[in-house]
Amino acid sequence: MAEHEHVRVAVIGSGFGGLGAAVRLRREGITDFVVLERAGSVGGTWRDNSYPGCACDVPSHLYSFSFAPNPDWPRSFSGQEHIRAYLERVTDTFGLRPHIRFNAEVKRMTWDAEHLRWDIQTTAGDWSADVVVSATGPLSEPKLPDVPGLDAFPGKVFHSARWDHDYDLRGKRVAVIGTGASAIQIVPSIQPQVEKLTLFQRTPAWVLPRMDRPIGAAERAVHRALPFTTKLRRGLLWGIRELQVQAFTKHPGELGFVEQLAKRNMARAVKDPELRAKLTPDYRIGCKRILLSSTYYPALAQPNVDVVASGLTEVRGSALVAADGTETEVDAIIFSTGFHVTDMPIAERVVGPEGKTLSEVWSGGMQALRGASAAGFPNWMTIIGPNTGLGNSSMILMIESQLNYMADYLRQLDVLGGRAALDARPSAVRAWNHRVQERMKRTVWNTGGCTSWYLDAGGRNTTIWPGTTAEFRRATRRVDLAEYAVLRPADARPATGAENEEVAA
Ligand SMILES: Cc1cc2nc3c(=O)[nH]c(=O)nc-3n(C[C@H](O)[C@H](O)[C@H](O)COP(=O)(O)OP(=O)(O)OC[C@H]3O[C@@H](n4cnc5c(N)ncnc54)[C@H](O)[C@@H]3O)c2cc1C
Repeated sequence: MAEHEHVRVAVIGSGFGGLGAAVRLRREGITDFVVLERAGSVGGTWRDNSYPGCACDVPSHLYSFSFAPNPDWPRSFSGQEHIRAYLERVTDTFGLRPHIRFNAEVKRMTWDAEHLRWDIQTTAGDWSADVVVSATGPLSEPKLPDVPGLDAFPGKVFHSARWDHDYDLRGKRVAVIGTGASAIQIVPSIQPQVEKLTLFQRTPAWVLPRMDRPIGAAERAVHRALPFTTKLRRGLLWGIRELQVQAFTKHPGELGFVEQLAKRNMARAVKDPELRAKLTPDYRIGCKRILLSSTYYPALAQPNVDVVASGLTEVRGSALVAADGTETEVDAIIFSTGFHVTDMPIAERVVGPEGKTLSEVWSGGMQALRGASAAGFPNWMTIIGPNTGLGNSSMILMIESQLNYMADYLRQLDVLGGRAALDARPSAVRAWNHRVQERMKRTVWNTGGCTSWYLDAGGRNTTIWPGTTAEFRRATRRVDLAEYAVLRPADARPATGAENEEVAA
């Protein structure tokens, strides 16, 4: 490899995961690290998703770092610009800027078995690192459907995560494709501006009212003066969500009454029975992500909105043809069609000792030990890896658990002394995933009668954690060395006999 800088740890990404990792590394006394970020600023999700109406759907006091409480959240569910500003502040407060290399997209990482390090090629030069912490985000690579004729569409086309703010939607005929978390925030925000809005809905969502409200000056002053009140608020928000988990994971039958609340939310705003029928899901609530909005249904009931309850199949000139044969002339198409999730994009760029990429190894589905380590990819871990997602609570809780695991991993390497690497044993990866998938069988995500982005191409749920966040916290408190083979440079092979184990997909 040509001239490059060597670091102990290379973190990839500067969203909540990457910034959290950087703070944790500094707190562990580790300063020999870089954060490689492909964009020109921090924020990840909250930098890239700037669509009208973008906000979190977990209350802000829970959707933030426990080590960086913010007494000044302006709303119970704060908007994108406030979350982005929060992450910029975290970056400055914890002195992370000197570590961050912007416009450094990681193109390829290759394991050097001789030197026990990762060689990392980026658009801003090369690095090598003892350990890679990959925090490239579960929802960061927009997914566009392959629609015949789209290339020849004469109007404007963009994805909700790459909003074109120079394009003026006023007076335009606009199609929104998709009815997920982004679409239900976009629709009510743009409906008053556009001439005509057509929503293409393949599957209706369950939508509960959104209990959003401004957090007043007095309330914020209390949080500032008495920091324990912010902690208390966070604790309550967390506890309520922990109590809900059992219904999702063990007793989906109990969720029927929540469906009634969602139906009432719809009935309040949508008086037309035909439209109500189109918008009523036929699967158990919770199977797909439960959405929160008090403005979505009222927007859909407006005279300038049409719902096409059928998928988009073709674009013919400026007409959008749906599976039910209807044609709609539009000036702009906004794809709100989600992200590459179960086919984690960074996996194509990670090359293990045998020359195989992680995506090749994961061709039968993603799996990692405790959501972090893949067998055969030593000293490489993910933040928000396989089966670490949540259906009803804050991803920051899961990120912080994974940071505990990362910190202990680095401590264990220190204890081992000399040059060493840890490679997850295939048997340990297998056992962990067996447990996860066994627990998954009863969950609403697998039994609720829907297809969702939680499931991979083979129908396996490789994204969601089927338990409470407290259980995951316990499972990631320490690295169990028995679950890893220790590699040393002398032979560069597992020193403990794990070489004959294979991961069964
Ligand atoms: C619109 C939207 C709303 C959401 N709302 C919520 C919510 O309310 N509650 C909740 O818990 N979760 C929510 N999520 C999920 C959210 O993605 C996570 O909560 C969290 O922000 C993920 O942080 P991250 O750091 O893992 O990933 P990201 O924030 O996606 O950051 C990943 C970073 O990695 C960089 N990167 C990617 N590939 C490379 C590469 N090859 N080289 C260099 N850099 C790279 C990206 O540019 C990005 O900056 C939402 C997601 C979206 C899209």
